[in-house]
Amino acid sequence: MTTTRFAPSPTGYIHVGNLRTALMNYLIARKAGGTFILRIDDTDPERSKEEYVDAIKRDLEWLGLHWDRVERQSERLDRYAAAADALRDAGRFYEAFETPVELDLKRKKQLNMGKPPVYDRAALALSDDERAALRAERGQGVWRFKLDHARIEWADGILGDISIDAASVSDPVLIRQDGQVLYTIASVVDDTEMGVTDVVRGSDHVTNTATQIQIIEALGGTAPRFAHHSLLTGPQGEALSKRLGTLALRDLRERGVEPMALLSLMARLGSSDPVELRSDMAELIDGFDIGRFGSAPTKFDEADLFPLTGRYLQGLPLSAVADQIAELGVPDALAEPFWTVTRENIETLHDLQGWWDLCRDGADPVIEDEDRDFVAEAMALLPDAPFDGGTWGAWTAAVKDATGRKGRGLFMPLRKALTGQAHGPDMAALMPLLQVVKAR
Ligand code: GLU
Repeated sequence: MTTTRFAPSPTGYIHVGNLRTALMNYLIARKAGGTFILRIDDTDPERSKEEYVDAIKRDLEWLGLHWDRVERQSERLDRYAAAADALRDAGRFYEAFETPVELDLKRKKQLNMGKPPVYDRAALALSDDERAALRAERGQGVWRFKLDHARIEWADGILGDISIDAASVSDPVLIRQDGQVLYTIASVVDDTEMGVTDVVRGSDHVTNTATQIQIIEALGGTAPRFAHHSLLTGPQGEALSKRLGTLALRDLRERGVEPMALLSLMARLGSSDPVELRSDMAELIDGFDIGRFGSAPTKFDEADLFPLTGRYLQGLPLSAVADQIAELGVPDALAEPFWTVTRENIETLHDLQGWWDLCRDGADPVIEDEDRDFVAEAMALLPDAPFDGGTWGAWTAAVKDATGRKGRGLFMPLRKALTGQAHGPDMAALMPLLQVVKAR
């Protein structure tokens, strides 16, 4: 039975980078008819906030990424303590007392000598007396997992065959000096006990994966299938890390991005398949294949979300947006023609407000100097509102007869006089919605 999880730390709002992880895990589970767990990685009591847990749930619900159950690491601390005991009993866990400053010094020395900055395992050589003395002097140490210095290998779902020399990695700290259990072991215990079969996460976790595979084995578990997606960059390939804060899902929602536009983009970006706008989750699940993703950094341009949102909206029937249209104050009788006329001319539903303002109040006319007399003459020929579907045709024919203008020279000045813009909906369809014409 396929089981995946999305495991955010509730220390901030989730952004497009996190979404990639959530979505891939979600799609794998749904495609296989399996289970998708939302796991809240809240082992850090200082940085974890309930407000962020709520926000993460709201973001996922907005996108329709429904989870089958929620787990919280803060409620499973006894399980992690038991695993730590098991590692201790197996001789794979040791206490180390170096201060961060000492560790930093060691690293610098190693780098100066051209060596990789790997923890030198000095703590392993301590005698019982030395350890007791250090503990008396410095208090509790940190607990490190003793890696087996062999090659760690796995077939990565995205990166292919990976082989990492364990000797090139520091023995990971699993318990901090203050007793706080770290994610590295908590995650392994959860993945094993919850039967997680597939883990997709960012490629910044590759080294974690190597150490976690050994921890899983030391605890008698079986490693899940791992896949590491590439990190997102900006459109020019620049690092996105600093800007991710402004790419929070809640901000995109507020800016009017539609869930299916965002999901369609993220389900394909970085894969060898083109981005295709999907109309629902079933299509998204159907068209997803983790094997199509590559290891190269993935360029993300938030600007792509808006045309996709526009295209998604164009395909919607009135019933899907009727509430929003009613909220604008559009009379029921005009809702259908209003939607038909505007949906081709919006990127987000926020844009409807501008079109309704224009219909209700009239636009400030834009009239070029050379068109002044022409527009004045045309306006004198325009019948009074309300207009209907035939108004534009009949009016422009009359204006053409009176002025001799035709084509673009006829239509464009009239469009700009009535809408204040050079582009927009079909004028014949727009006229019946115009309640006021300011150009008179
Ligand atoms: N809480 C971890 C993170 O957000 C989870 C990583 C994982 O998928 O194991 O980076």
